[in-house]
Amino acid sequence: MSPPEHAPSVWRATARIARPAAQPLGEDRECDVAVIGAGFTGLATAHFLCEAGMRPVVLEAMDLAWGASGRTAGMAGTRYKRTYSDLATHYGTPTALLMHRLAHEAIGTLEAIVAHYRIPGAFARTGQLIPAHAAGALAGLASDVAWLAAEAGDHTPRILDAAETAREIGSAEYVGAWLDARGGAIQPVDYVHGLAAGLIARGVAIHVETPVTAVADSADGVVLTTPHGRVRARQAILATDAYAGMALRLGDLHRRFVPVSASIVATEPLSDNVAKSILPGRRVASDTKRLLHAFRMLPDNRLLFAGRADVTGRRAGDPASYGGIERVLARTFPQVGEPRIGHRWSGMVAMAADAIPHIGRHGKNVLYALGFSGRGVTLTALLGKHLARMATGDEPDLGPMSHGRFAPIPLQRLRVPILQVLTTYYGIRDALAR
Ligand SMILES: Cc1cc2nc3c(=O)[nH]c(=O)nc-3n(C[C@H](O)[C@H](O)[C@H](O)COP(=O)(O)OP(=O)(O)OC[C@H]3O[C@@H](n4cnc5c(N)ncnc54)[C@H](O)[C@@H]3O)c2cc1C
Repeated sequence: MSPPEHAPSVWRATARIARPAAQPLGEDRECDVAVIGAGFTGLATAHFLCEAGMRPVVLEAMDLAWGASGRTAGMAGTRYKRTYSDLATHYGTPTALLMHRLAHEAIGTLEAIVAHYRIPGAFARTGQLIPAHAAGALAGLASDVAWLAAEAGDHTPRILDAAETAREIGSAEYVGAWLDARGGAIQPVDYVHGLAAGLIARGVAIHVETPVTAVADSADGVVLTTPHGRVRARQAILATDAYAGMALRLGDLHRRFVPVSASIVATEPLSDNVAKSILPGRRVASDTKRLLHAFRMLPDNRLLFAGRADVTGRRAGDPASYGGIERVLARTFPQVGEPRIGHRWSGMVAMAADAIPHIGRHGKNVLYALGFSGRGVTLTALLGKHLARMATGDEPDLGPMSHGRFAPIPLQRLRVPILQVLTTYYGIRDALAR
């Protein structure tokens, strides 16, 4: 797979933390754990490996946050793609309660990493809204609020009626919403730059432009091949999410999820009056549609609006492919007028069959965390922490994230036509939903 086209995101243009200096690997070296990928997962894992007294080396094919981590919408949620009541039906109430605790551990872990490295402005508990596009979707959110209160004793999330939702969002498009004040948002490039700088300061080597092209796994450990040097380590950690398979194939790991392109536009800064009318509490929002739209205001009055342009990612560099997203933006926030778009970009999301990420072992000495299914902002911190535990010999119980079925998804060769048909189908269902 050749790397998809990369239009720069608004995050790079507005980052306040400079990219720390990092060079390609130019010689052979040894370490305790070789981490493949310098996105949220790889860097969080490196942090927790250091905390456990181990010496990691991070190898990144392209650049810091080049993958989904630098292209994300950056919304830090307190739930999974699936509702808790759905998880309870599927896995049983004790497992759903475990997953609820883990979701809060995830956002707490992200917050703790940002605090540890004192990364200014990288994370805030802004509150998270899930606006409902139809009455049926709102009923689903309400039953989840009821489940959390009854089963988990969690009384914080609440349902907003249509009028309160319109005030919170600054749009009349939605029939109600879920609000969890504990959710938050990150500036992803500042988070990655700050975390990478902190790791480098404590002696971690991070090598960019260093694709790992082979991993030899034996009883003695692993040897990783890169263009200009080999890395010998006791273990390797694959932290490549949707980009697994780009330069390296380890068994069938790259076929255990479907890579789907997600796209984002960010306007030029809006006038103060218009900016104040949109998400006035500066919460983040991600709606209930199957082909969801997500939006947030940025500190400099830009409106970020995410959705699906071309699900294959093949037209990521073509501004015309973002037209559908821009039309929904204009319909949702008519006060913006004809939107002046400053940035358009896309990235790949790794969709697992059960819409939750998976952590595990491959072969003798390789660990992985893959399939974040568009919920990686917080869950990468959680799985990074537990990957480091696994590297020290622990076997954490993360419910179906550690013990669930993570099998190859069939029909990968037909991925593109299947995705195109599903996108049309879901688009129609979203439009007709009541
Ligand atoms: C447009 C978009 C919007 C999103 N919005 C949200 C959101 O609002 N909230 C949320 O929770 N999640 C969201 N996500 C998902 C979230 O961003 C990801 O789950 C998360 O960033 C994954 O982080 P990662 O470190 O595992 O992978 P990535 O950030 O993708 O990093 C993987 C890295 O591995 C490197 N790599 C691959 N192969 C090799 C190799 N052989 N050798 C060396 N390096 C290699 C790649 O270059 C890449 O830098 C979004 C994703 C996208 C694309």
